[in-house]
Amino acid sequence: MRFSRLRLTGFKSFVDPTDLVINDGLTGVVGPNGCGKSNLLEALRWVMGENRPTAMRGGGMEDVIFAGASSRPARNFAEVVLSLDNSERLAPAGFNDSDHLEIVRRITRDVGSAYKVNGKDSRARDVQMLFADASTGAHSPALVRQGQISELINAKPKNRRRVLEDAAGIGGLYQRRHEAELKLKNTETNLARVDDVVEQLA
Ligand code: ATP
Repeated sequence: MRFSRLRLTGFKSFVDPTDLVINDGLTGVVGPNGCGKSNLLEALRWVMGENRPTAMRGGGMEDVIFAGASSRPARNFAEVVLSLDNSERLAPAGFNDSDHLEIVRRITRDVGSAYKVNGKDSRARDVQMLFADASTGAHSPALVRQGQISELINAKPKNRRRVLEDAAGIGGLYQRRHEAELKLKNTETNLARVDDVVEQLA
């Protein structure tokens, strides 16, 4: 899978619709301080399912919505659309029936976030898994936030191992194991309840 296009509307400083075509050979984005270079990277992370406001340099997720400027009112929503070239059919099962994938995430004030993949409503988890299995995604070590290198140096070994696991593309497996463990725990609780009922009836 290859990122081919990133479109932003009302996301942080990108109040007007902005279209970034990601062609082969693009190696950097340059511009003066404060022009929005980091916001572009954050848009990429956000559309792939980032749910920690701190990773977006904000206090709450709605902080990604254009907050207004002296000459322009604040916006009510932000939207990021990421297009992927899937012509090599490397997307995980469930997403692999098309040469192009388009992931849309939109956040509306007081309503929250919604995702679509190729026009179909999707859950945050599905989008996160799509990227986690491809060894990329919101937590990918390929996306380096400001301050992240010093965080990594000071991190506990367990957290540092997590970075290596994400790089190896096994982050999705850990998420699935966690979900399976929760299901198992629920089932055990239900079984214990059934035992209680059977005991009462006996
Ligand atoms: P530097 O080179 O200094 O790291 P940069 O090009 O990476 O800068 P960003 O940090 O991406 O720039 O952009 C910062 C700009 O985005 C600031 O002007 C800030 O006011 C603006 N900004 C951030 N969040 C919002 C928001 N929610 N609404 C409007 N503007 C915002």
